[in-house]
Amino acid sequence: MALIVQKYGGTSVGTVERIQAVAQRVRQTVEAGNSVVVVVSAMGKTTDSLVQLANQISSRPSRREMDMLLSTGEQVSISLLSMALQELGLPAISLTGAQVGIVTEAEHARARILHIKTERMERHLQAGNVIVVAGFQGVSSAPDLEITTLGRGGSDTSAVALAAALQADRCEIYTDVPGILTADPRLVPDAQLMPEITCDEMLELASLGAKVLHPRAVEIARNYGVLLAVRSSWVDNPGTQVLSPLPQSRSLEDLELVHPVDAVEFDTAQAKVALLRVPDRPGVAARLFGEIGQQALNVDLIIQSIHEGNTNDIAFTVIHRHLTRAEAVADAIAPALRNHPADPNEAEVIVDRHMAKVSIAGAGMIGRPGVAAQMFSTLAEAGVNIQMISTSEVKVSCTLDVEDCDRAIAILCQTFNLNSSPIRLDNPEQAAAPKDAPAVRGAALDRNQARLAIRHVPDRPGMAAKIFRLLADQSISVDMIIQSQRCRLVAGITTRDIAFTVAQAEAEAAKEILEAAAPKLGCGKVVLDTEIAKVSVVGIGMIDSPGVAAKMFRALADQRINIQMIATSEIKISCVVAETEGVKALQSVHSAFGLAGRRQIEIPA
Ligand code: ASP
Ligand code: MG
Repeated sequence: MALIVQKYGGTSVGTVERIQAVAQRVRQTVEAGNSVVVVVSAMGKTTDSLVQLANQISSRPSRREMDMLLSTGEQVSISLLSMALQELGLPAISLTGAQVGIVTEAEHARARILHIKTERMERHLQAGNVIVVAGFQGVSSAPDLEITTLGRGGSDTSAVALAAALQADRCEIYTDVPGILTADPRLVPDAQLMPEITCDEMLELASLGAKVLHPRAVEIARNYGVLLAVRSSWVDNPGTQVLSPLPQSRSLEDLELVHPVDAVEFDTAQAKVALLRVPDRPGVAARLFGEIGQQALNVDLIIQSIHEGNTNDIAFTVIHRHLTRAEAVADAIAPALRNHPADPNEAEVIVDRHMAKVSIAGAGMIGRPGVAAQMFSTLAEAGVNIQMISTSEVKVSCTLDVEDCDRAIAILCQTFNLNSSPIRLDNPEQAAAPKDAPAVRGAALDRNQARLAIRHVPDRPGMAAKIFRLLADQSISVDMIIQSQRCRLVAGITTRDIAFTVAQAEAEAAKEILEAAAPKLGCGKVVLDTEIAKVSVVGIGMIDSPGVAAKMFRALADQRINIQMIATSEIKISCVVAETEGVKALQSVHSAFGLAGRRQIEIPA
């Protein structure tokens, strides 16, 4: 007999009929010989309505009272679903988060789960009951026993945490879409269902997938090896399997990582090639990486920051043994990229063999401002100068002098409380990459970002730390950070530009903070552009398939779309483009990777 945890979202329990339909589905699962724990969200838009109600009384309701209020939504749906199950003749019992013993931090409105007491559930399962648990809520430890909530969308997290604690055979998330799609179907009508995706990919696609699956749920699934699927509540399809690495035995205490960072990774086997001052026009990156890809040279990090005047710098890394060939390709193509082929000041090629890449990774950094700043200040305190920075949703990578690498790792492990040895994504066991994983699994567009840049930041330890600390102190979450290759001498001091993206709503505030600080820090102008969009592709298969970046850049160039910035992680490539071109960029990239059009997906209204 298998133990299955099923989670039904708000729309799936939005009406009496739907609750009854859920009860039928639970009955089928029980009749097939399984024990079932069901987790439900509040009915339909209940949580939103409760928030509105509170806002009519107070513009700043206390977080404690909000938790008290919002947790009632789920209490309605668990009792009704239990009644529906009992009507079908199934013994069922509803339990709140507190009754189950989902113990959380005492942080209202965004509590993390510390541990889950399983005795009471085990007793009920033994007795043959279906247990219906209120998602999204928990209780703080004695003596306070405060009702807490896990943050919006948190019932996915409740479900996966219960599956981990009960060592369930699998966890099924039922929702109103057929599973995880290759792109947002409202923007890309021929988006397809992904049969499977790894947890690492899912986390990098957080901006695409967060509405379907809470990132914290993905993190728990990955850490505990929970067998997880996202499926439609309306049709009987297998949906999307979310693949975890092989389960490692891990304590069920501190179930949700309280640490924002769960790995420090490094790579000293790479070298950097940079092209300085290449013209800022569509097709340049496509041409360069097209040639590199032709030679089957595998590129890891690619960084292009904002342009200066009308030129860009593009830097990338390759493994040492590919350096000579990569450099030759870059040298050969440079004249073709120039406006004046004979001008060696344009598209100048430089290489650096003595670099190391050091990264911090972890889903916990999503929505927690200050993690990147903490990395930068840790490095600064150790006197380590950061050369380039590239970030993704769940990773911050810095290049530095190889001499500094050991020191950087040691001090980062200390700061982020990691005593485990650094893990590596290209270790197949840890990455859960199926052998035939496609180079690109899905594409995402983020139109809510604005771009800020600070010109001429002195190139010395501590500058990035200061800048991002200022923002973090005001709770401004930075999305993608890029520090480019370009060095410029300003009044005898070497400087670099630092660019990053933030939510549009926070852009003005961020700009003001930085403008106030720039003169004191000795930095140049602060430039804001709100008319941008970020288009990304994600796939674990890109680690060992050359030419992925080239294909993406080519797809954009074919549409005459100029790439303003590039940042990458091992499994993600993101480009900033003009906002007006965002949707076209997404569609062209999506089709370039053959993600479209095999089967028409039906998205119920
Ligand atoms: N009801 C909560 C919300 O709307 C939790 C959830 O649905 O996952 O955010
Ligand atoms: Mg949800």
